[in-house]
Amino acid sequence: MANGFKPRVLICSECGEEFAFTVAAQEYFAERGYTEDPKKCKACYTQYKKTKRDSGRSTPVSSSRYQIRK
Ligand SMILES: [Zn+2]
Repeated sequence: MANGFKPRVLICSECGEEFAFTVAAQEYFAERGYTEDPKKCKACYTQYKKTKRDSGRSTPVSSSRYQIRK
């Protein structure tokens, strides 16, 4: 059964496009303790991660919400 999640449509802060925040994605977020909605669509987030990986740790990342430090 559903566990309270519903597919939603969010606006990407990067490209301004609408994107689906699917139930699976919401579960993924919840499992990792994220309480905020994603700000980027999948394409932008993938690009963001790739850019971050490519640039190493030298660039300060303003949006650290996707990282949880333990
Ligand atoms: Zn986007």
